[in-house]
Amino acid sequence: MACTKGMLLVWLLLLPVLPCLLADDKIRYDGYQLWRIRWEDVEFSTQSLLEDFPVDIWNRSPMSADLLVSPEIQGKLRALLDLSNVTHTVVHPDVQLTIDEQMNSVQGSQETFPETLESFRLDKYHQFDTISKWMIRFARGNKNIVTLVNVGKSYHGRRMTALKIGAASRTAKEGVWIQAGVHAREWIAPASVLYMANKLVQDFGSDSLVTNLLVHFDWYVLPVLNPDGYVYSWKTDRLWRKTRSPIPDTVCIGVDGNRNYGFEWGGAGTSADPCDNEYVGPFPFSEPEIYSVANFLYRSSTKFRAFLDIHSYSQLWLFPWSYTLDPTPEADYIKQNSVAYLAVNTIKNVHGKDYTPGPYAATMYPSNGTAIDWAYGELGIMYSYTVELRDEGQYGFLLPEHEIRPTSRELYAAVKAVGRHLLKEKFAD
Ligand SMILES: [Zn+2]
Repeated sequence: MACTKGMLLVWLLLLPVLPCLLADDKIRYDGYQLWRIRWEDVEFSTQSLLEDFPVDIWNRSPMSADLLVSPEIQGKLRALLDLSNVTHTVVHPDVQLTIDEQMNSVQGSQETFPETLESFRLDKYHQFDTISKWMIRFARGNKNIVTLVNVGKSYHGRRMTALKIGAASRTAKEGVWIQAGVHAREWIAPASVLYMANKLVQDFGSDSLVTNLLVHFDWYVLPVLNPDGYVYSWKTDRLWRKTRSPIPDTVCIGVDGNRNYGFEWGGAGTSADPCDNEYVGPFPFSEPEIYSVANFLYRSSTKFRAFLDIHSYSQLWLFPWSYTLDPTPEADYIKQNSVAYLAVNTIKNVHGKDYTPGPYAATMYPSNGTAIDWAYGELGIMYSYTVELRDEGQYGFLLPEHEIRPTSRELYAAVKAVGRHLLKEKFAD
């Protein structure tokens, strides 16, 4: 018997299946399949029927959707799709096997902390405590340009620590904010920003662009925005997405952090059902993690010139708006769009990967209460982007470790290109 969080409420009510939760403290996805359907094949009436199926939507665009389908409903869903002449392809025939494959590889490496900073493997996935330890060592080892910044605490009291990377300055510096890991299962996001942070520090003094970037801006990197969820995705449910706060009057846990910001909160791109993966939360900024980030940025005396929210997957570089299909004002749109193109063209030159730039709602799907809409709409940060890293669904959230380094190289190159643009703008002022 397989168990997923999406149907937890139902299962808890059905006592006979409880042993599946108790027999193993890890939630398993035996027999679950990842299906890809093409939305353009799906009539509107079928789309609304699909909405009622208890599937976990891994990825959605105007053209297609990747659905995690439990064994129990595969027959019914197949019948519905057949009736509507919608074809589906099975991307993963058994998701548990893919999880096992990843976890075997991850656990093959000892999660003990290495003797030296240099021997720390940035091409591996690491647990939260290990990341935290590395950050402390990293800051200690690079005191001239790295400091640790306390952003806040998670619901379970875990520290949300950011790295502040920049050369000392007697005058106030502008900043760039880079956050990752709001969605717990997107492990490549924290991994790639750690790599990026390390490279920024390594290249300072030897690469003239990076040196200038660190002289003129402070780079804030928050690798694990949702520590409780991240820990849970390691220990219990590899496919956990949300925070871990209890929700009143329900057994379901957690909120979608990227629907919880207080700008255009609620609405079409969210769910009011606490058991859903895109649950908006009981009120805006209900999650301590989201409140902490917003509060930190809101109160900061630093003027932030760019805001990057790193996710996976589907290889996109997205800018506001996410809550509406309407474009941002034309002068802003032109800037946001050109820097998005700059980023994806840079990525293409690294390993030939295609990322798609565009406004969030039109390129992916409308979502309310997101980080980038808040950053741009409330704080006025022009270059606010959601970045969806590799891949395009072959592994999805279960991206193998050998893809960490190339994915991170792509992100680093794109971030430097954005930085170069910021420098140009700064000196054109
Ligand atoms: Zn995400």
